[in-house]
Amino acid sequence: MAEYGNMQTGTLMAGKRGVVMGVANKNSIAWGIAQQLAAQGAELAFTYQGEGLERRVRPLVESIDMDFMIPADVTDDAGMDAAFDQIKAKWGKIDFLVHAIAFAGKDELQGSMVENTTREGFARAMDISVFSFIDCSRRAAEIMPDGGAIICMTYLGAERTVPSYNVMGVAKAALEASTRYAARDLGPKGIRVNAISAGAMRTLSLAGIRGGKSLMGTGREWSLLKEDTRMEGVAGCALYLLSPIGHSIAGEVLHVDAGYHAVGVPDLPEEG
Ligand code: NAD
Repeated sequence: MAEYGNMQTGTLMAGKRGVVMGVANKNSIAWGIAQQLAAQGAELAFTYQGEGLERRVRPLVESIDMDFMIPADVTDDAGMDAAFDQIKAKWGKIDFLVHAIAFAGKDELQGSMVENTTREGFARAMDISVFSFIDCSRRAAEIMPDGGAIICMTYLGAERTVPSYNVMGVAKAALEASTRYAARDLGPKGIRVNAISAGAMRTLSLAGIRGGKSLMGTGREWSLLKEDTRMEGVAGCALYLLSPIGHSIAGEVLHVDAGYHAVGVPDLPEEG
């Protein structure tokens, strides 16, 4: 019996097939999104970074009664060719793609952006976190003859400065611009491309950022809803953007962060 956690069940994605990239463990945003899409009837293929992660990812995939798993490191062109060939061979075409992949070195995700960003670190962050999205959008579009939808994951650090986020903020700004350009290119083919800007969530990626836990605390305190960003909200937004009810939305960055992005000044202390 498939387990979908707290996700809403239904048939919005019945008959639709798609690729979810970026599940590393049960806390991954990609996993929350996958559970929600499966709970609405989607059939999923999972790509994961490499053999080392299979042990963690397989039980999750099996818990929602799926088994299509492909190792794929986004920096390896031959591996990416093989992954998409495998998807094409099995399904012929797909309806959607979820890109939830990013990386920057620990040394870069602390202190001063100006001091700590090396040429090599910059190139790696941009390659894995931004180019891979452009590359995957091209590969996915080739097997979306009937149109489809693509999403990626971004963060407020693209728009405003966030301590320690540094080169990843620069990469997310480029990712958001890439979302708009991909939406422009693929729109005429009936493919909608959008991004979700999620608030800080407790995942492996957040653990790589110096002070990541404090980012969550501040996010909660400053947010309009006075709560953490919930996986159900992020996954629900993904469902909205990837399903037919998201019609007419393209080139958008939707914030799912308990309203944090809308705050200029946090609550003031009582004046005595
Ligand atoms: P996560 O660590 O669970 O997921 C990141 C994924 O990227 C992992 O599955 C990892 O294997 C994959 N990855 C890294 N390098 C790769 C490579 N070379 N090839 C293939 N895969 C690779 O963390 P997450 O928080 O779920 O991150 C998913 C996305 O959400 C990222 O784009 C992240 O920047 C974004 N995001 C996270 C937060 C947050 O607070 N956690 C907030 C907003 C946006």
